[in-house]
Amino acid sequence: MVQSVLLPVIHGLLYMIAACLLFLVINPKFIFDSRRRKLLFLAILTLLSFVYLGYEEHNPMVYALHLIPLSIALASLYEGAVPGIATWAAFVFCGIFVVETEGLPTLLAGTVLLGLGLLLHYKMEISSHKRMSLYTICLVMIYLLLYLSTLWLQGRWEDTRLVTVIVTITLVSSLFTNFIYFYVKHQERFQRELILSEKYQLIGQLAASLSHEIRNPLTTTRGFLQLMGNENVSKEAMERYRTYAFEGIDHANSIITDYLNFSKPSLEEPTLLNVKEEVDGVISWLHPFSVVANITINVHHLADTSLQIWGEPKKFQQCLLNVMKNAIESMPEGGSLTVHTRLKVEMVQIIIRDTGVGMSSTAIKRVGRPYFTTKESGTGLGLMVVVSLVKAMNGKIYFRSKPNEGTICEMHFGLISNG
Ligand code: ADP
Ligand code: MG
Repeated sequence: MVQSVLLPVIHGLLYMIAACLLFLVINPKFIFDSRRRKLLFLAILTLLSFVYLGYEEHNPMVYALHLIPLSIALASLYEGAVPGIATWAAFVFCGIFVVETEGLPTLLAGTVLLGLGLLLHYKMEISSHKRMSLYTICLVMIYLLLYLSTLWLQGRWEDTRLVTVIVTITLVSSLFTNFIYFYVKHQERFQRELILSEKYQLIGQLAASLSHEIRNPLTTTRGFLQLMGNENVSKEAMERYRTYAFEGIDHANSIITDYLNFSKPSLEEPTLLNVKEEVDGVISWLHPFSVVANITINVHHLADTSLQIWGEPKKFQQCLLNVMKNAIESMPEGGSLTVHTRLKVEMVQIIIRDTGVGMSSTAIKRVGRPYFTTKESGTGLGLMVVVSLVKAMNGKIYFRSKPNEGTICEMHFGLISNG
């Protein structure tokens, strides 16, 4: 007799452990999205319920006295309203209509258990393992007492020995499952804290390098303003210092814009952009640099039609500028920078190719990550800004490169056709 219930009980426990482990493995992907986390919980619950009901032998006593209380207690106590109510609905209705547990006791005891579990979830904190074990065992005991006394009052009490065995196993199992679930939650909290601490660290680093970068132009500006205070400065020199001082302030301003673009890459006022005109505009700014660096620039617009995309002019120019600046900086001995624009399957493509030092395959993987730089005075933030802006414009960006041969950067954006 006892052996006939032991096997289904152990199987039930295995399903619960499988659910916990599945949750632990998949959950980190959804840890910050509570709606998706709840959906994940429901999906695992549905999947395992189907498998259990489809493959396992239905034993009403084991289902009512073991699986229902453990599942509802854990779901309501640890996960709150949506998962708690879903678990309650799934187990109570499957119990009554599929496994054929006793209707009234299942409904009554199940509902009281859900209510008390949710009350504890919202009033108490998930704290120590001891306290959670106490809550779980109390909830399970209240359920069992209610279920069995209703059963007795209805005059349906049958086998005292069997009931005693299942109740004992359930109380032991409740401690065991609580132990596993507590550590699943513990792991989840640990992962959440780890992700948050990494974010804070990144913010700290960004703030540090922002102040460092701004301090340079501010110091030079201060120097020029000080020089302007000298009495015997010629009018000409005065004018030059004034220009330098303004340049310093503009530079500081542009650094701040860069950071803001990264931290808030959404498009505030998107308009239609003419890609060919924007590319030509940025190239004309770069011309003086390329002459000094002995670099020839070639631009080929391969499409006959106008190439319009959705975006913000300043941000788009910034993307082009950052990528082309890198291309120029990769050719210290001179070389050629070629820019193609073309239309391919309704996608506007901008291809920027240089004949510079190139990148190794490991370097390519790190491109766009904050602080990845191989330059002495690099910030490692240029491509990070580009990647986040291209994403905000619903575009895609790819890099291909070979050491000592050069680099190709492709940006793709959806074409907006006229009319
Ligand atoms: P920074 O230019 O300040 O170093 P970026 O984010 O613009 O920061 O670039 C990151 C790194 O990617 C560069 O330091 C360089 O090593 C590499 N890189 C980017 N573009 C190119 C390129 N066209 N050719 C070779 N290396 C490049
Ligand atoms: Mg750069």
